[in-house]
Parts: sequence; C-alpha cells; structure tokens
Amino acid sequence: MRNHFVQGFSHLRIALLLILSLTLIPAAAQPRQSLVPGGIAVIELGQDDPRDFRFRGKPVLVTRVNGVPNALVGLPLSLKPGEHFIEARLSGGVHKKFFQVADKKYSTQHITVTDKRKVNPYASDMDRILAEKARKQKARNRYTSTPVDVDFLLPLSGIRTGSFGRRRVFNGQQRRPHSGMDIAAASGTPIVSPSAGKVIELGDFFFSGNLVYIDHGQGLISMFAHLSAIDVKLGEKIEKGQVVGKVGATGRVTGPHLHWSLGLNGTWIDPALFLSD
Ligand SMILES: [Zn+2]
Repeated sequence: MRNHFVQGFSHLRIALLLILSLTLIPAAAQPRQSLVPGGIAVIELGQDDPRDFRFRGKPVLVTRVNGVPNALVGLPLSLKPGEHFIEARLSGGVHKKFFQVADKKYSTQHITVTDKRKVNPYASDMDRILAEKARKQKARNRYTSTPVDVDFLLPLSGIRTGSFGRRRVFNGQQRRPHSGMDIAAASGTPIVSPSAGKVIELGDFFFSGNLVYIDHGQGLISMFAHLSAIDVKLGEKIEKGQVVGKVGATGRVTGPHLHWSLGLNGTWIDPALFLSD
C-alpha cells in the first residue's frame, strides 16, 4: 500500500476530526480483507485523514479497529485486477491511498429453472422488470452517514450453497454472476437482520420474489430475496437480530432458500467476509 499526502491539515481541522471520530461506535469484530473482485479492501487511515474518502466517486465506509479508523471498500465483481485507490478531494489537492487487487476466477454454475418465463420474460413483463431494476439500483446505492455496526450475525443457520460470484447459466443461457450468498433452509424459517438498520425497500419483485432491503449505514446494505413472508414495514427501524421475514421460494428459484446480497459503496460484495465462519 502506498500513501500519498498532497495536502496538510490545519490544527483546528485535526482537533475537529478527533472529536468527530471519538463519537463513532467501536466495533468488536471486523470483516476480513479480500483484495479480489467481489472482495473488500481494508485501508488504515491516519487519525488526521479526511472523513470523505471515495472510491470511484462513492463515499466509503469508515470503521474503527482498536481506535484506528479503517476504510472498508467494496470491490465490484467487474473490477479489473491491478492498482486502485481511494481519494479525498481537498481545496489544495487530492489525497490518495493505493491498494492492489488480484485476479480471481469464479466457477460456472448451470441451473435449470422450470418456470421458463423467469429466464426469458415475456415482452409484457419488461415494464415491470425495468421499474424494479431502477428501484433496486436506488436502494443499493443509498448512502447515509449513520454509524454502522459491522459485527454481523448470520441471518439464519442453514446450508450455504451457490457461493458468491459464480458465473451462472440458466437453462443454457448466460446470466449475471451470482451477487450474494444462498442459504438453504425450510420454507418459513425466520430470517434475522445481521445488524441494526432501516428498511429502505421491499415488495414482490419479478426475479427476486418477495424482497427486503435494509440500510445498515454508510453504504452497507443487506438485500434478502425469495421470502415467503415479509415481517417489516417500509421505513421501519430494525434492531440487530430482529426477524425481517421468512424463507421461501418466490421469484427465480429452484427451491426454498434465502438469497442474501450485501452492498458496500454501491457494489455487491461477498457477505462471507462479514461472517466469522
Ligand atoms: Zn442467490
């Protein structure tokens, strides 16, 4: 990692930043770094670093490890291996921190879905699909400066299947890579929120079935899909461990399971990095 200091700080600004940083809630357990597409970069920041670091224009999450601020940067599955950086724009210049991303080959998964309409939608389905896509994009890209608890609970105990990042071929046709973690469990199994947050989107969607988006703060977003029941309301504040819905088989599925996607700075990353195994 290479640090690049172009601009210093006034003593007043340093004092203000220290006061601000002391008000953040310390987190006990931290996500694991994985410097590959679909992973997370964990970048140590100095106490006097600016709080507004961005990655490709999106604000990044800042948490604290033993009092030291760390940026957690979500790396898109589409990211090219090589050198990347986060940056903070200041009046006198740009402050950058660099990191290296390695290549990762994800395996291919062939899936047979009996409801062919979920693989090749009718022309009459397209208005609905496009409207839902816009709502999902908006929810995934939401950012609020709320303090965030990154010490996650597993949403339910079950068999983890269909690992994150796999390239997927539905009924012989290539589709987007798998953007989350699948956890197989019986229909009706309660799903709990891995951390505190707020419900920012929900409904019955064409591909995802019944879904719920929870904003955990600072661009960290959970999405739960294929539910048989939704037990929360739009705008509701959620406690860590609160039941948000039940496992089901709605949308494009081959059987009952929870699909859990985890977003960070507007991109889906591997939720396993937030779990202690
Ligand atoms: Zn899935």
